[in-house]
Amino acid sequence: MATVRPLDEAGVRAAVRRAAESGTRVRPVGAGHSYSPLAVTDEVALELSALTGVVACDGERIRVRAGTTLAQLHAELAGRDLSLACAADIDTPTVAGAVATGMHGSHPAVGSLSAQVTGMRLVDGTGTAVEVGAAGLDAARTALGAIGVVTEVELAVRPWYSLRLTQARAPLDEALSPEFLDGHAWSEFWVFPYTGEALTRFGDEVDEQPMPSRAQTAWSLERRLVRSAAVGGGLALGRTMPRLVPTINRAAIRFSGSAALAEVTDLAHRALLAPPVVRWEESEWALPRAALADGVRDLLAAITADGLDVGFPLEVRVGPAETGWLHPAYGRDTGWVAVHTAAGADPEPLSRLAAAVLGAHGGRPNWAKRHPWTHAEVAAAYPRLADFATVRAGYDPNRVFASPYLDAVLR
Ligand SMILES: Cc1cc2nc3c(=O)[nH]c(=O)nc-3n(C[C@H](O)[C@H](O)[C@H](O)COP(=O)(O)OP(=O)(O)OC[C@H]3O[C@@H](n4cnc5c(N)ncnc54)[C@H](O)[C@@H]3O)c2cc1C
Repeated sequence: MATVRPLDEAGVRAAVRRAAESGTRVRPVGAGHSYSPLAVTDEVALELSALTGVVACDGERIRVRAGTTLAQLHAELAGRDLSLACAADIDTPTVAGAVATGMHGSHPAVGSLSAQVTGMRLVDGTGTAVEVGAAGLDAARTALGAIGVVTEVELAVRPWYSLRLTQARAPLDEALSPEFLDGHAWSEFWVFPYTGEALTRFGDEVDEQPMPSRAQTAWSLERRLVRSAAVGGGLALGRTMPRLVPTINRAAIRFSGSAALAEVTDLAHRALLAPPVVRWEESEWALPRAALADGVRDLLAAITADGLDVGFPLEVRVGPAETGWLHPAYGRDTGWVAVHTAAGADPEPLSRLAAAVLGAHGGRPNWAKRHPWTHAEVAAAYPRLADFATVRAGYDPNRVFASPYLDAVLR
């Protein structure tokens, strides 16, 4: 495998042309954070870490180079008293990688990062730089690196805002209710298998300055530790004494509901940040909102029935219907359900169970996470797949951007 790191768009064009002429395949690569082999290649990896920074910003839109990380983007926006309307829990991915995979947070009324895309520039399979017109954006905004190497992305932005985040324990039924899930600017919950109880977290927009940084640090640390405490316990004790997992999970949810850390106010992108302190494997499914409650209950029941020692909470999030043809939330309001397995443990049993149960509820997998789908399932679940194939053939007639993973899911 070769890694090419162009210094500018001309370098991207040259690298793609060279590959096309020699019959080699090219994979655009971001920060490599996907759990699925989306960014994997044994041919040429085209890494855009030198293409960073702001190209233009007019207060309503910002255009950045594709290798800019989300952390850099947030900092550039904050310096202009601006913000993205959506934010996720990590900021290390690149803008192009996060857009290509449809990276989402949990805003019931605000779409993913790829939904914020208003313009895009890419180098196609012939090595030509093209601006994607408005009519082409829904094919291109969640394209998995299949139609070209994106060099610039333009995103809608809004004035900066603070979120007051609150957390509280709640019965699972309450957490699954529309009153909770749709009642805030941002809402999510975690439910530990074997407890029947959820840890809800919700954010409301407030006209307030951020809290002092010590409070933010405590909140973020605690948020990260909830999962880690359970993981640590699950790993240390669960492996040797799996019967203890329910007890560990109940202790974890009591610990995480501690009143002292129940509220924090901060700039939205900082408040929502929760980078992991341990490594895990993840699968995530996008369910039609109407199927979310049954999907979560069925998965918890299946975990119990199979006696799986799952020490991580299920993570439940929401988002509106997306217009990106290959976005997992395409065409329908969505509830996201994620399952995690600590690195080093076998993720397959839980991942397979989640695929079976959540797939049966109409779930589509998050492209960036572990899933067993091949082309047959993708074709049945994505009504615009054939249109995407036509667009793809136009941008990349010789399949310079194909990969084993894309061959399996898109053909
Ligand atoms: C701890 C953790 C937390 C996460 N949390 C979330 C979450 O909250 N929500 C969520 O949706 N996902 C989440 N993810 C998944 C992750 O955010 C996505 O995989 C990520 O956005 C990919 O960005 P990347 O820069 O790492 O891209 P990579 O993984 O390197 O690549 C992903 C895809 O983007 C394509 N790509 C990259 N750059 C370009 C380019 N210049 N042009 C064209 N295509 C390109 C690649 O070809 C590939 O198909 C999480 C992952 C981790 C590890």
